[in-house]
Amino acid sequence: MVRLESLPETGTVQNYVGGEWHTPTGSDGQDVIDPATSERLASVAFSSADDVDGAVRTATDAFEEWSERPVEERIQPLFELKRLLEGHEDELAELLVREHGKTRSEAKGEIRRGIENVEVACGIPSMMQGGTLLNAAPDIDESAVRKPLGVFAAVTPFNFPAMIPLWFLPYAVATGNSFILKPSEQDPLVAQRIFELIDRAGFPDGVLQLVNGGVDTVNALLEHDGIEGISFVGSTPVAREIYATAAANGKRVQAQGGAKNHIVVTETADLDFAAEKTVGSAFACAGERCLANDVVVVEESVYDEFVETVVSVADSQVVGSGLDGETDIGALITPEHEQRVRNYIETGIEEGADLLLDGRDVSVDGYEGGNFLGPTLFGDVTTDMVITQEEVFGPVLGLMSVEDVDEAIGVLDRSDFGNAASLFTGSGSDARKFRHRTDIGNLGVNAGTAAPMAFFHFGGRKDSFFGDLHAQGEDMIHFYTDKTVYIERWPDT
Ligand code: NAD
Repeated sequence: MVRLESLPETGTVQNYVGGEWHTPTGSDGQDVIDPATSERLASVAFSSADDVDGAVRTATDAFEEWSERPVEERIQPLFELKRLLEGHEDELAELLVREHGKTRSEAKGEIRRGIENVEVACGIPSMMQGGTLLNAAPDIDESAVRKPLGVFAAVTPFNFPAMIPLWFLPYAVATGNSFILKPSEQDPLVAQRIFELIDRAGFPDGVLQLVNGGVDTVNALLEHDGIEGISFVGSTPVAREIYATAAANGKRVQAQGGAKNHIVVTETADLDFAAEKTVGSAFACAGERCLANDVVVVEESVYDEFVETVVSVADSQVVGSGLDGETDIGALITPEHEQRVRNYIETGIEEGADLLLDGRDVSVDGYEGGNFLGPTLFGDVTTDMVITQEEVFGPVLGLMSVEDVDEAIGVLDRSDFGNAASLFTGSGSDARKFRHRTDIGNLGVNAGTAAPMAFFHFGGRKDSFFGDLHAQGEDMIHFYTDKTVYIERWPDT
């Protein structure tokens, strides 16, 4: 079991509503399990519709006073939250490793990326300003101002349980709204610890709330009249559903979905560098990243050489507990998810892909109960294979040979997803084609993983995103506010 200040003896994860901790009252629930050891860390009781209603009403009451506070006062608790998150970074990272399975350095990187969003939101007094035009018409000045709207909620996935809530939370409250987080039921502990820090940061009670739960809890949020808008991050089928339901219920909605990301390697690339970055991109966080590139499309003139280099780099990856400093690839989130990835490997073999490296027989001494898979590489994959079309979300990489960059861009175009892609090249003309012709939200050139900093938006295209305004940065200000225009005339009296 894990010990947290707010966890009772039973180990039941708590909601944070109105500045107090409450046990959710719904009938369902599940355990939180350490993926490396199978140890039970805590349990989640799911919130009922009444719990959700209580959180929304409390947030609505808090909004009245909070939205009228001077913006300079609203950002002070965010400065304090940044200080608290930084002061507890090691402890948060360890908790994250235990409930998620990723490595300690990946956990620290995730927390750093989350803190970046708190930092950016501290700039709201400048970012939230509207515009004014003197003499817009005879004797008339016009200005547009941004106003907060009320209560917003975010529903977040298991794979970045510390960072993804922070794509939304700091911007929601800095702009003057109140906010409810529904974290993943698979690893909710780091969110609960962050809310223990939020409790100390100086936000008025009711401005920030934590509501744990599963599908019914999400549905109660989607159906509640008191919620202005929903941010969702998760798999594509659920994102599509959330987008439709939230819109039908008259809410603002942004829904980020799943991915199938590609790396393109041209003959002018530095192949050693590209191989090292490819392995990092495909296998970090055991491949459980929406930005993981898990198909590499290589120009045929360098295909054999590149494959040989990637196999040798991938083969040196160490699989193990995330708490062990030597580990490169930690545990997968659940045994069910591990089995799902194993099924994809079976499918790849049946489809005729060339199994270059097989991670299925990996064993980790002292962690026999863990959900481990080693790096798995397939050569000669083609676009008609299931393993090149569907999101695997595990440490599995496919390599494909193409004639040139034009054919490679065609491969990317045929994918249903448009979250991210990277190009390794020495040619500016190839880089320009890649930038101009692809329909993808996050592009990297000679960068393995195209992860935008917090002051840029984060979001994909095609089946990877439903909505218009993305997560992070300026898009969040637009999502969390609406504009009013003032038209003023002051005749001489
Ligand atoms: P998921 O869709 O299973 O769950 C995400 C959230 O939705 C959880 O909080 C869960 O409780 C809730 N949920 C699940 N099923 C639901 C349903 N039927 N109705 C309402 N709510 C439901 O996703 P996951 O397995 O936690 O996360 C992995 C997925 O998230 C991958 O597909 C990954 O690509 C995607 N992801 C996307 C991005 C992005 O920016 N596009 C970022 C991170 C993860």
